[in-house]
Amino acid sequence: MIRAKYQIATPSVGAMLREEKTTKTKLGLEAARFTDEGRLVPDEMIVELARAWLAKHNGAFVFDGFPRTIAQATALDQLLEQRGTPLEIALSLDVDFETIRGRVSRRKVCEGCGRVLSVGWHVDSPDSACPDCGGKLAQRSDDTPEALKQRMIDYHEKSESLISFYRDRGILTRIDGAQAPEIVFADVVRISENA
Ligand code: AMP
Repeated sequence: MIRAKYQIATPSVGAMLREEKTTKTKLGLEAARFTDEGRLVPDEMIVELARAWLAKHNGAFVFDGFPRTIAQATALDQLLEQRGTPLEIALSLDVDFETIRGRVSRRKVCEGCGRVLSVGWHVDSPDSACPDCGGKLAQRSDDTPEALKQRMIDYHEKSESLISFYRDRGILTRIDGAQAPEIVFADVVRISENA
């Protein structure tokens, strides 16, 4: 929705890692040992992906799921300083665990075009074809109860502190991410346009 409205890039490090795994690059296969178990991938690998992406793209962007540790946030600051484009907004989409669990259990990814879909929202059944390209819908290898549990542990141990990190800097906004997608998006639009 952000990409469609503002025509700006919305890079996702998680999506980059899934692509690297599918094409069986060294980095992708190494990172899969972490992602499949729901653990955060080591900072050096993640920062390298972000650095390579920023080196190739000049315009505005919204990173999705990056940074996820203070070390990554500090590295991002340095990369953006070199680029002359300091970070303007940090958004935290706050969602309670039960809602997360429900969303994860309904999430599918199209093997053809990579679109992320929710069963019951975008498609009726897990066996439906992708409405965009007709591709087969698959479950992410880390959308399992065990991996989700580990992702929550890593979130609390390593990512949650970013809330105070960006709050102290005065660029953090928290949004109720448990609302319907169009309401969350309306909040994102309001915050971005008033920043
Ligand atoms: P996501 O698609 O954002 O849910 O990310 C999927 C998985 O990729 C995460 O559970 C992590 O294993 C890994 N990952 C994505 N972004 C990061 C990041 N910034 N730092 C470390 N690991 C990440």
